Amino acid sequence: MTNDLKVVKNYINGEWVEVEGAELLPVENPSTGEVIARTPLSSGDEANRAVDAARVAFPAWSTTPVSTRAEYMYSLHALLRANNEKISRILTEEMGKSLPDSRAEMKRVFQNIEAACGVPILQQGDKLIGCAKAIDGEVINLPVGVFVAITPFNFPTMAPFWFIPYAIATGNTFILKPSELVPLTMEVITEYIDQIGLPPGVFNLVNGDRVAAAALVDNPEVDGVSFVGKSATCQLMAEKCVAANKRYQAMGSAKNHLVVMPDYTHMDELIRNMSTSCYGCAGQRCMASSAIVAIGDDMYKTICERFVEDSKKFIVANPLDEKVAEESMLMGPVITAASKNFILDMIETGIQEGATLALDGRDINIPGCENGHFVGATVFTDVKPGMEIHKTEIFAPVVVIMKADSLDEAIKIINDHQYANACSIYTQNGYHARKFKLEARCGMIGINVGIPAPVPFLPFGGMDNSMICDIKMQGKSAIDFYTDNKVIVERYWTE
Ligand code: NAD
Repeated sequence: MTNDLKVVKNYINGEWVEVEGAELLPVENPSTGEVIARTPLSSGDEANRAVDAARVAFPAWSTTPVSTRAEYMYSLHALLRANNEKISRILTEEMGKSLPDSRAEMKRVFQNIEAACGVPILQQGDKLIGCAKAIDGEVINLPVGVFVAITPFNFPTMAPFWFIPYAIATGNTFILKPSELVPLTMEVITEYIDQIGLPPGVFNLVNGDRVAAAALVDNPEVDGVSFVGKSATCQLMAEKCVAANKRYQAMGSAKNHLVVMPDYTHMDELIRNMSTSCYGCAGQRCMASSAIVAIGDDMYKTICERFVEDSKKFIVANPLDEKVAEESMLMGPVITAASKNFILDMIETGIQEGATLALDGRDINIPGCENGHFVGATVFTDVKPGMEIHKTEIFAPVVVIMKADSLDEAIKIINDHQYANACSIYTQNGYHARKFKLEARCGMIGINVGIPAPVPFLPFGGMDNSMICDIKMQGKSAIDFYTDNKVIVERYWTE
């Protein structure tokens, strides 16, 4: 690694700031292992400077007309759209997902901005005339103050945009701490945020790891925190926020199940729908499925055979290799060598605990990418609920297939699992679909849909260990999170 490699900057109070004296973390292209930049691990003091700037900016921003706040979002939307391809390529280079996946992620960014542009309507309150004699009741939704978001590596743009447009459009000021593993995509997006001319301090970017994150969360001037990452980290964040009486969101890990009923007939679509869900983004999506439950012996046998065959069709390659870059069935690398080692350990665990390794993705060699972190599609059959490979979020293209004798048994498998983000059923039977949507305990439910990720006009979030908070992200839920809901009871005598 040479010392002249670019060091990512922070953006505080409307200015780019070099972080002095910070430890520098290498940012790798996970396809090649090449170091492409360095992330400064900001100190707590550096993070606190961003909070100071956001606090100072709040009074003027919170009283800026709501239509003006929305106009900034229109401008940002236009700039990001015009530069979509450039941003998507940076995203692919530092995170490793395919270009089609990066563009799909950016689509969610645009939609979240579009949803937030509705703030002049969404932030409106209510009024009830005549609650009692001469008394009217009014509900108003006011900006709260300074908000922070701490986001994971797997969605370098979508996860920050679950928060940025809503927080700012509702009149709050904001600090983002992206994952230290993927700082480059939000750096380029911040260049566009800089160009729209928001007042200094309204949006701030702090690069770093858990030290900067903890300082932001602990700062008493921060009113609210959104966290997305592993459930264990969510738990820590939630405890800190509860102790400090801050509002918070904490979206955690997942193990999403796909249940296939014996009546399902569209087998070609089914298999491709499931494999796309499992292998897109190399299985590193919080909405990726990684557990299939087939009901009955016949469907189990069919799924095992056909899913393994389809899994072999996924191309594993450097996603920026022009020969394959536009392929829809393309899998890039996983994020780090440590992540790959964890996945290899989990595959070994699955073998040791008696599951059948029906497809082994461990031995992948991609010429020119010898230092990349690739794992091919991997499928375990004969998996029993409670095996480690079923209990654990592997966050990889590793799929477990299980058999159940009834829908009740499949729902029990889902409901006994520690994670409750999303699950789907494939069926033509309305009774089974209805039973599933009412009884399966997950925050997001799919019916004949492999990735039941809600569009940004709807709320997004799991349950239990996958969402350790009460308020979901996106759409109207975001407006609730980012506003203080004040109720006024007023009386005017008429004579
Ligand atoms: P992670 O928990 O390691 O890191 C996420 C963020 O938290 C990063 O910015 C990191 O710097 C910070 N962080 C890490 N440890 C911290 C600590 N002790 N204190 C404060 N901050 C800390 O998660 P990751 O590996 O980057 O992301 C993958 C995880 O995120 C998976 O479990 C995935 O399921 C989950 N995820 C969930 C959703 C959802 O909507 N539920 C969406 C995307 C990702």
